[in-house]
Amino acid sequence: MSEYRLAVIGSPITHTLSPLIHTTFIEKMKLKCEYSVHDVKKGELESFIKYAKDCSITGFNVTMPHKQDIFQFLDDVDSKALLYNSVNTVKNVNGKFIGYNTDADGYKMSLTEIGECIENSVITILGAGGACSALAIMLASEKAEKINILNRNTEKAKAISDDVFIKTHLKPIAMKLSKENIKKVVPETDIFINTTPLGMEGIPENFEDLSFVYNLKKTTLVSDLIYNPFRTKLLKTAENNNLKILNGLNMLIYQGLISDKIYFDIDFDFVLLKSIIEDKYVQGKLC
Ligand code: NAP
Repeated sequence: MSEYRLAVIGSPITHTLSPLIHTTFIEKMKLKCEYSVHDVKKGELESFIKYAKDCSITGFNVTMPHKQDIFQFLDDVDSKALLYNSVNTVKNVNGKFIGYNTDADGYKMSLTEIGECIENSVITILGAGGACSALAIMLASEKAEKINILNRNTEKAKAISDDVFIKTHLKPIAMKLSKENIKKVVPETDIFINTTPLGMEGIPENFEDLSFVYNLKKTTLVSDLIYNPFRTKLLKTAENNNLKILNGLNMLIYQGLISDKIYFDIDFDFVLLKSIIEDKYVQGKLC
């Protein structure tokens, strides 16, 4: 009989890697824990919360489209979740549901692992959705020198810039996502991050012109939040130009492992577990 119960909720949820991450953790830590996946559509959160309370769930991960809607069902919210205005982890503490956010810290760990320094760096982010928002607040809090946000819809980039300024006193530069603007910011960029779905498996659009990669500094890190494909066209082009690259898998695995640390509060080797999960993922893709 299981001592613990974990779950992930979201919709669509079929392709989630959460079970791979958390069941590997459960197995390696020899925990008696059930793990379940729930397709919870917008408007269905309340009934899931009732179910989760009734079955005394240990905790659950929250993905699209519930990262903001979940706030109203929580008894308390951790300071980082408030800062990022997003919850991806809920822990049941004596019947009270507490919300956390581990996404941005997952990204921070993936940068730390490869020795990348945020402080005093110039960071360029493409896209201005939920991921950009959390990363921009984290990067500004970690004392990035300058952040450029380029987005199709400039108003969304401006809104994130205003929010980051209120929370951190660093004002990111918001710009239209265009070839001209990318060329302008590329020479000063230390960390270049793609948070748009351009290049993602199943998405027809990709970068039309990647020649800007050749104008990046030789020391620039090119990071893509996408992990499927493992190397996007952007990352392949950067790698061919001998630049450091980082895909989104490490961020994804680390955010999951930080959630596990919150649920169980036990010590483990993050890097070792991350590499076991990464190997399983790659093996699965090769089969
Ligand atoms: P989101 O809130 O939907 O934002 C997507 C952003 O991409 C928007 O700013 C949108 O621009 C832009 N965009 C969409 N299609 C585009 C196109 N064809 N050309 C140019 N820009 C386009 O999504 P999100 O939650 O921020 O996630 C963004 C990406 O990060 C996704 O690929 C997601 O899978 C990935 N992600 C990975 C992790 C991880 O752990 N590795 C975690 C979170 C997210 P407009 O505002 O103009 O529509």
